[in-house]
Amino acid sequence: SIVVTGATGALGRLVVEQLLATVPAERITAVVRDKEKAAEAAARGVEIRVADYDRPETLADAFRAGDRVLLISGSEVGRRVAQHTAVIDAAKAAGVAQLAYTGILGGPDADFLLAAEHKETERLILASGLPHTFLRNGWYTENYTANLAPVLAHGAVVGNAGDGRIASASRADFAAAAVAVLTGEGHLGAAYELSGDTAWSLDEYAAQVAAATGKEITYSRVPAAAHREILVGAGVPEAFATILVDVDEAIGRGLLAGTSGDLARLTGRPTTPLADTVASAVAAL
Ligand code: NDP
Repeated sequence: SIVVTGATGALGRLVVEQLLATVPAERITAVVRDKEKAAEAAARGVEIRVADYDRPETLADAFRAGDRVLLISGSEVGRRVAQHTAVIDAAKAAGVAQLAYTGILGGPDADFLLAAEHKETERLILASGLPHTFLRNGWYTENYTANLAPVLAHGAVVGNAGDGRIASASRADFAAAAVAVLTGEGHLGAAYELSGDTAWSLDEYAAQVAAATGKEITYSRVPAAAHREILVGAGVPEAFATILVDVDEAIGRGLLAGTSGDLARLTGRPTTPLADTVASAVAAL
């Protein structure tokens, strides 16, 4: 089977959808913690296995010998090393044929806070000896476009990323890369640096939003401490605000700007342009 964890998340849903367009449904298994959320996939013939990264015993039945597994990294920052360890242990015990993991652009060289758990997970996968593929995902364009309301309300994109550029791609692009390594051959032991074909600055992003909405939008460069205050004021939990400000800092240092071309090569098509994702988000407002 091709097994997808986190299959009811935003990325996981796209992976399952694209797998359904590529291989017969009976070859696909979704590992989910809430079966109800997977009803549509089940109706389409996808096998559902229920497991929670936080409860290792539930993972005992999640994988089978020979499975090709996509571990979609968990969403609870700070808990992910223990969670991913449980998945790796279960995959090892089952004897899976491939463990693909959605890490972070730069892999071992990514030195910002959010990267730490991804780096440790890659280390644990290497230590497990499992046949693996590292999908080092850059930023989703949707991280920005999901947040259009405050940008439009204030006429500003606020950040402490300086002139840093971001080689983002759409979630659907990253999903397509995952499908390529799960259904194709020759990806064992590989680490892909997945990012958009073109890196853009927050000035350019503000200009794209302005063009798509007809509103005046600019990028407001603020110091890290001021950005953190703004985020906390907007309701972002303190610990996460610290992480977001640190991400912007890393963007300022160019750490999310890499354009290796790995993503387009894996999917066989250019990545989705920033303007397209902005247009979709504006249309959905
Ligand atoms: P989502 O938050 O939409 O999905 C996370 C998935 O992980 C969900 O399916 C969720 O299950 C599952 N999950 C979380 N905790 C557990 C657990 N304890 N046991 C089992 N499953 C669990 O994120 P996305 O799909 O957008 O992104 C996928 C991952 O990529 C994120 O989890 C994060 O690690 C990373 N990420 C990357 C970004 C980037 O720009 N590259 C940006 C944001 C995140 P459920 O559906 O039940 O909630």
